[in-house]
Amino acid sequence: MNVTVRAAAKINLHLGVGAPRGDGFHPLTSVYQAIGLCDDVTASDDESGWDLRLQVSDWIDAGAVPVDSGNIVTRAASLLARHHGIASDGHLLIEKAIPVAGGLAGGSADAAAALVALDRLWDAQTSDEDLLAIAAELGSDVPFALLGGTALGTGRGELVTPLADAGTWWWVLVPSLEGMSTPEVYRHFDKLFPDASPTPPPADELIAAVASGEPHRLARLLRNDLQAAAIDLRPDLGLLLDEGEEEGALRGLVSGSGPTCVFLCESADHARDLAGALMRRGHGIVLVANGAVAGAHIVGGNHG
Ligand code: ATP
Repeated sequence: MNVTVRAAAKINLHLGVGAPRGDGFHPLTSVYQAIGLCDDVTASDDESGWDLRLQVSDWIDAGAVPVDSGNIVTRAASLLARHHGIASDGHLLIEKAIPVAGGLAGGSADAAAALVALDRLWDAQTSDEDLLAIAAELGSDVPFALLGGTALGTGRGELVTPLADAGTWWWVLVPSLEGMSTPEVYRHFDKLFPDASPTPPPADELIAAVASGEPHRLARLLRNDLQAAAIDLRPDLGLLLDEGEEEGALRGLVSGSGPTCVFLCESADHARDLAGALMRRGHGIVLVANGAVAGAHIVGGNHG
């Protein structure tokens, strides 16, 4: 038997960051959106034992993704198996199109996809509540990768609530060939903002803009508190945001902890035009994606 599950990259329309809590995590108010840039995870039990393989889009460096116990899908498998008191058996294939260490939560997407795929492969019938709890244990962005759509994340981002979203939002993405470490960006945020409030800035106005479906209104309200830290570490990102806005993006934003930069556009045509302009300026990899799309879901498989 095999089952293939697709999970999407996320961007943060709002990432409000507070001062670190006692446990070291930063309290967040995050408005996540799942966009149409996806990894597929296929789980199969054609042979016994545990195995993990990786296939990547040609511009992604496969060497940046561990294929041993360091891969988050291996941890996902162990946690799910332990929850059910069974052995973690199966062959997993990750087909990766989401940039690695790009601020798009690609690893979290893979973890969510692996949970859904293995739950089906093992016929474990995990409840949604338990799946979300296991996801939260794996990482702050993993519950959202299960949920998809547009959602509010609180706590350290792991407590997710779906939001009303009336738009079809068009994004141009410019990934970077060199990833950034999320913990390092948070450490730099703490250095730059030692007096950050313990309460992260709310997202109420932006949430209303998402519900209105109006891109110009949303553009004005996009916010990422990690952006200053990311640009301080990587000044080229600031230049890239300027370029995108000069070429007509409604707004440019660093995605999460970076380095991927995302540009909000008015329409699909506008996004294609902007992508062309950025390529002409010499950016090799420029992607167009729309949101919001579904969370981790089954797209294929057989019961053979
Ligand atoms: P986030 O924004 O959630 O921090 P990110 O998109 O910046 O995530 P990821 O692509 O999730 O970063 O990867 C972060 C690190 O996790 C990588 O540098 C890699 O070494 C490790 N990793 C483990 N498993 C995976 C996986 N399945 N896909 C990508 N990276 C993985």
